[in-house]
Amino acid sequence: MATSNNEEMLLSELEQVSDGTYAFTRPLTLVTCALSPEYVCYPACKICNRKVLLETTKGGHHNVSICSVHGRQKGTAVYKYATGLLFADHKGNEVWATGFDQLVQEVVGGMTASDYMSLKSGDERYQSLNVLRGKQARVTIRKTTKGDYRNYTVIALEIIHS
Ligand SMILES: [Zn+2]
Repeated sequence: MATSNNEEMLLSELEQVSDGTYAFTRPLTLVTCALSPEYVCYPACKICNRKVLLETTKGGHHNVSICSVHGRQKGTAVYKYATGLLFADHKGNEVWATGFDQLVQEVVGGMTASDYMSLKSGDERYQSLNVLRGKQARVTIRKTTKGDYRNYTVIALEIIHS
């Protein structure tokens, strides 16, 4: 993880584009992405998209999900992307931000999170997020604060193809 000093340096390059939404004034390098499935996708409620608990049946199948708002639901869980993305500027200052479902699906070429979760290990598409590493991107984020903890959500990510 980046030190907070480095993060501050990077965040000082933010320019407000609308209320609560900021763009970095210069393109950033996408250093890395979270690659293990539990940091890439989460099982979601079909109604509200909140994270659900999965109930495992005898056969090891996840055919019931439990939403804190909508309760037990039958059927295979839907997955959504919530992917940690590490960005750096040209001086190596770094910040983690989370990319959510539609955004990540677009940058990995249309594969849904449920498709991603159904890949067998060894499938080369498992590495599809890896193709983003080292790429330059124009990045827009939203900052939120929960208690002492700051969160950054990637609102727009435009990969610069050279
Ligand atoms: Zn729900």
